[in-house]
Amino acid sequence: MRPFTYERAGDLSEASRLGANTGQGQTDAPVQFLAGGTTLVDLMKLDVLRPTRVVDISPLGADLAGVALTSRGLHLGALATMSKVAEHPDVRRAYPAIAESLSLAASDQLRNMASLGGNVLQRTRCPYYRDPSWEACNKRRPGSGCTAIQGYNHNHAVLGVDENCIAQYPGDLGVVLAAFDAEVELSGPSGARLLAFTSLHRPADGEPHLETNLRPGEVITGFNVPAGAWTRRSLYLKVRDRSSYEFALASAAVGLDMDGETVRQARIGLGGVAYRPWRSPEAEAVLVGKPLDEATAKAATDAAFAGAVTHGGNDFKPELGRRTLVRALLQAQSLPVSEAS
Ligand code: FAD
Ligand code: SF4
Repeated sequence: MRPFTYERAGDLSEASRLGANTGQGQTDAPVQFLAGGTTLVDLMKLDVLRPTRVVDISPLGADLAGVALTSRGLHLGALATMSKVAEHPDVRRAYPAIAESLSLAASDQLRNMASLGGNVLQRTRCPYYRDPSWEACNKRRPGSGCTAIQGYNHNHAVLGVDENCIAQYPGDLGVVLAAFDAEVELSGPSGARLLAFTSLHRPADGEPHLETNLRPGEVITGFNVPAGAWTRRSLYLKVRDRSSYEFALASAAVGLDMDGETVRQARIGLGGVAYRPWRSPEAEAVLVGKPLDEATAKAATDAAFAGAVTHGGNDFKPELGRRTLVRALLQAQSLPVSEAS
C-alpha cells in the first residue's frame, strides 16, 4: 500500500473541507472518505485506489446512523451499518425488499462494518478494473480501452453499457433504492442538497471514470425512501453462483400495489445485469392495470430486457434476468402484506 495521510473529521463541515478533492467517484481522486473501509481499503491494497489523503467520516456516525419510519417514509442514515438496517423491525415490516437486499449481501462480518453510504458507492468487481497490471481499463485509466469487451465478461452488464465500459454495478441495496424513488441527502462545501437516487450514478456515456454526480467534498448523509403501498408488498430476489457471500448474476427488486388480482402500481429494479442501479419503467408500464399472471410477467420482463447488449461470456444474462424478474413478480403477488402504521 502507498503512503497516505489519515485524518478524522469531527463534523460535516470539517469532512467537506478535508475532502475537497474527492472527485466524482474517480479512481484517481487524491482524497477518499473512509466509512467502514471494506471497499476502500481493499482497493488501496490492490493499488487501484491511490489516495494521498484518507478522511475518516466514521466519527459522524453518532449523528448519521439513525433509522426512522415516519408518515412520509423511511429515513436511513448514511453511516448506519448494513446489519443494523437489515435487522431493523420497521424496515423488515414496511420495506422488506430493503432488509432482504442487505441481508443477502456480503457476509455477517462485512455487514457489521459496512455503511449504507459506502455500500451504494462500492466499485465494480470487473477483474480488469481490480488488477492494475491490465493496461486497458477506461474506468481506471481514461482513454486506455476496455479489456473486458473482448476478454472475460461472464458477470458483466447487459443494460446501460456502451463501447467504453461494460462493467456491472455489483451492489444490492442500490437496486431497491432506485426502484423505490429514493432521494440521497448530501452535505458539501456549498451546503446541503437532495438528489434523486437514480441520478447519483452516472450513465456509461463515454466517461466511465466519472462514476457519480457527487461534487468534490460532498458527503452522503442519508437516504429518504417515500412511503407507498408497494413498499410493504415488496421483495428482493438474488441469483448468484453460490447461495451466500457472492455478488448477483441477476437480481430483481419488486414492489407491487394490487387491487385484487390487478396491478395498480409497480416498482421494478434490476441488479447484476446493469451498468448502474437500474430502474425499469418499461416493465412497470406493461404491468399497470393488468392482472398479474405468468403471461403478463413475461411481457414485462421482455420490455425490461429489450435493450440488452451482450459480449459472449454474458450471453446468458438477459434470459437469466428475465427468469429472475418473472419469479420475483409472481412471488411478490402472493406475499402476505403487513398493515400500514
Ligand atoms: P468504504 O469502503 O468506507 O467506502 C467506499 C467508498 O465510498 C469510498 O470511495 C468512500 O470514499 C466512499 N464513501 C463512503 N461513505 C461515504 C459517504 N457517506 N459519503 C461520501 N462518500 C462515501 N455488497 C453488496 O451489495 N452485495 C454483496 O453481495 C457484496 N459482497 C461483498 C463481498 C466481499 C468479499 C466484499 C469485500 C464486499 C462485498 N460487498 C457487497 C460490498 C460491501 O457491501 C461494501 O464494501 C460496503 O458496503 C462498503 O461500505 P463501507 O462503509 O465499508 O465503505
Ligand atoms: Fe475497465 Fe469497464 Fe472495461 Fe472493466 S468493463 S475493463 S471496468 S472499462
